[in-house]
Amino acid sequence: MERWDVVVVGGGPAGAAAALAARATGASVLVLDRAGFPRDKVCGDGVAAEALDVLAGLGVDPAAVVAGHPPVPRLSLRSPRGATVERDVARPSYVVPRLVLDARLLDAARARGAQVRRHAVRRVAPGPDGVVVDGALTAGVLVGADGAESVVRRALGLGTNRPDRLAVAIRGYAPEPPGRPGTQVLVTTERRWPAYAWSFPIGDGRVNAGYGELVSGGATRAALLEGLARLLPGVEPTALRAHRLPLSTERPRQPDGRVLLAGDAASLVNPLTGEGIFYAVLSGALAGACAREGAGAGARYRSALRRRLGRHLRSSAAASQLSRWPALMDAAVRAAAADRRVFDDVVALGLADGRLTARALAGTVRGLASPGR
Ligand SMILES: Cc1cc2nc3c(=O)[nH]c(=O)nc-3n(C[C@H](O)[C@H](O)[C@H](O)COP(=O)(O)OP(=O)(O)OC[C@H]3O[C@@H](n4cnc5c(N)ncnc54)[C@H](O)[C@@H]3O)c2cc1C
Repeated sequence: MERWDVVVVGGGPAGAAAALAARATGASVLVLDRAGFPRDKVCGDGVAAEALDVLAGLGVDPAAVVAGHPPVPRLSLRSPRGATVERDVARPSYVVPRLVLDARLLDAARARGAQVRRHAVRRVAPGPDGVVVDGALTAGVLVGADGAESVVRRALGLGTNRPDRLAVAIRGYAPEPPGRPGTQVLVTTERRWPAYAWSFPIGDGRVNAGYGELVSGGATRAALLEGLARLLPGVEPTALRAHRLPLSTERPRQPDGRVLLAGDAASLVNPLTGEGIFYAVLSGALAGACAREGAGAGARYRSALRRRLGRHLRSSAAASQLSRWPALMDAAVRAAAADRRVFDDVVALGLADGRLTARALAGTVRGLASPGR
């Protein structure tokens, strides 16, 4: 039977980062993806600067990753009851269609010696000496980076997120509306709250525009399209497709052993914003680096993830609970409009590894006390 040190299931951002990190340890690495690349992935295409930091740490040139797509320096946020803030962000994001981004990342892994094969994984059987994949090959360690509907996660006996910890969103591409160049626009709404629409400029005259809400709200395609039209009137995207987002408010416990879960397969999507690429590349990088531990990889990876993201995950979960009250969201947005440091804290919490800071909380409480401000 074919044997590899590390097999990565899924060649998205988590899988590519895992492959890069595992190759850096000298491991033989095989990436299996059911799709041929380049392939599209339903996404808002927003790439946080911190995701590029992780990739730079893996030796991938951030400029090459985002080439052709200019930085997006501003962010505009409207709260459910209509308070707004628009400011320059501390670190610009980029908007790179996943058709382009994911192929670039997987090419980087290939260039480092990872093998990439087109194959839809169906069965994963962990054993004492390795993990058998579809009865055909054995992995010393297997990284499940196979996204929101992870087969690997199911093979570990771990269920999907419950409906109030799972979002669904629809996205398409539309001509960029006039008037707000270089701005990521987020519009939230009290109706079917928590729900929001976005419009992210790609830099080629188009925006990625979409709308998402919790699965527990009974979202249908018609409801998603209605939300999109209501919150972004005049924006008429085509190529509309929907996909689910497993939120980090319900994460499976990473088991001991030889199978590691990264990215959406590990439910690492930010519950406040739906951002997942930063968490995918970060968890993939940690998983790939721990893969050389063999049977000890699961325990090592679990503690690495806790050390790196534990405080952020607790903060975003707490903020997500608080954000259930639209009045608090209003107050937070007013606080961010009044104080740029609060704005920066909120952005870092929603897009990367930021914490719920005393400054943001105090500003929100002040905003609650004086709603007219
Ligand atoms: C509408 C929408 C908008 C979003 N907007 C943003 C955004 O703007 N910014 C952001 O940071 N995040 C966003 N996200 C979240 C982001 O898309 C995900 O968090 C991210 O793609 C996770 O990366 P991943 O590598 O874990 O999984 P994926 O990108 O889903 O990659 C998984 C890979 O596994 C492969 N695969 C699946 N099953 C198998 C199998 N059985 N065998 C072999 N291969 C398999 C798939 O083909 C795929 O290539 C959005 C999500 C949605 C749905």
